[in-house]
Amino acid sequence: MRVLLISLISIFSSTIFADNHCSADISAADNMMFDKKEITVDSTCSSFTVNFNHKGKMPIQAGGHNVVIIESKNFNSIVSKIDMKLGADAGFLPDMPEVIAKTAIIGGGSVTKVSFDPSSMSKDSKYSFFCSFPGHYAIMKGNVKVM
Ligand code: ZN
Repeated sequence: MRVLLISLISIFSSTIFADNHCSADISAADNMMFDKKEITVDSTCSSFTVNFNHKGKMPIQAGGHNVVIIESKNFNSIVSKIDMKLGADAGFLPDMPEVIAKTAIIGGGSVTKVSFDPSSMSKDSKYSFFCSFPGHYAIMKGNVKVM
């Protein structure tokens, strides 16, 4: 009975461990700063989830935020496509293959998440995350490390 209990606990712990490796939590507030400068993506995960929490109070149209993951070399071409007319749900970005993952733009007090397949990400390339609300990308950005 005792052995069974120990093995059940170890199965439970390894499940939690796997989940931690396949997700990252990021938050931001009205100060236009992410709480993290770097997140780590485990490219062996079949699906990786970014959980994003806007802890501020600003409404979407005035100070919404999101998280977009891209290969760093595509940063300038992607931010040049930011257009308010595309809508907050699309992150003010058109659908383009260069965007690896993006959440919707959310207002203060909201949470959102996005899951994506990280298998195409390579340890030899540089990746970034940023907020695609118009103007925010200049300071709301960080590194995505691939392991
Ligand atoms: Zn933002």
